[in-house]
Amino acid sequence: MEGINELRWNPLLGAWIIVSSKRRGRPWRSGECPFCPGAPETGYGWRVLTLDNRFPALRPDAKPSRGSNDIYEVKPGYGYCKVVVETPQHEGDLDDIPFEDLRLYVTELIRVSRELCADPGIHYVMPFRNKGELIGVSLTHPHSQIYALPFVPPRVQREMVNMENFWKEKGECLLCRILRLELEEAVRVLYENDSFVAFLPFFAMWPYEVHVYPKRHFGSLCEMGEAEIADLADCLKVVAAMYNSLFDIDLPYMMVFHQKPCKMEAKFYHFHVEFYPLHRERDKLKYAAGIEWGAWTFTYDSLPEEKASELKAALSRGLAKLEAKGYKTRGTPFTRTSTKP
Ligand code: ZN
Ligand code: ZN
Ligand code: FE
Repeated sequence: MEGINELRWNPLLGAWIIVSSKRRGRPWRSGECPFCPGAPETGYGWRVLTLDNRFPALRPDAKPSRGSNDIYEVKPGYGYCKVVVETPQHEGDLDDIPFEDLRLYVTELIRVSRELCADPGIHYVMPFRNKGELIGVSLTHPHSQIYALPFVPPRVQREMVNMENFWKEKGECLLCRILRLELEEAVRVLYENDSFVAFLPFFAMWPYEVHVYPKRHFGSLCEMGEAEIADLADCLKVVAAMYNSLFDIDLPYMMVFHQKPCKMEAKFYHFHVEFYPLHRERDKLKYAAGIEWGAWTFTYDSLPEEKASELKAALSRGLAKLEAKGYKTRGTPFTRTSTKP
């Protein structure tokens, strides 16, 4: 049987499920890193490299297993799944990757987003990074993924609805307002450089969730200038250094880029990056369990302000480590005091 890539509609939740039976790829030879320079698919002479995912959930020549039946809608799993190899260096997190590679990495996300968004069948491009075996990542070579989807995913749709309503009702961007409130309350703000602010949001769902918002209002990766690209690379590096200093373990996390959909103007949408680590304490994980999955209601077993102060302490340790490695940050820990409760 050939590989299947299809979308099945969940009529209860109004959401697409990506179904694939990944038959077409060949497994990598074990022991050999497929992302190191000189591997069959990588070659030499690059600092950052985009490859096709060998077991793509979506593909441009997708074949469904069946047709639709009444409200059981089936569509081909059209789209692209890419892997972005972030550096030739075989191991490490974003805080270990040379800054120049990280800057090229952000530039590459922009290039690939632009290219995939231009495809008439693509409505959304989401770059993300899963780090750590806890999140199912067995390859240690630093890499991210990019999914190009034939629909706008539900979480982004939800953000769109709220940002658009706020824009219409208040004549202002929702994220610009959140950023202003965070800077006023100050207690949860961790780091800032000229273009970006990193903070643990008032409404965090994961214990050590961190959001990175640009100070300027714009909707997608593709709208960033050179200084903003460097500042985003800097911010990602600093957040990773902070996380890895939190418990002095290589902290697993998910990092996702939220940008506006490809085919919509969406002036009200504000680009941002979100980090979700899995831990709630050094040796305890926060599980998305019955109430989180069954209700989509998150419980936060601490105070966000307490977790933020732990992150602030981790940030100074992380910055000291970066400095010891010879990295000069483009920003500073946030130190202003609160002007609001
Ligand atoms: Zn490698
Ligand atoms: Zn905004
Ligand atoms: Fe978001």
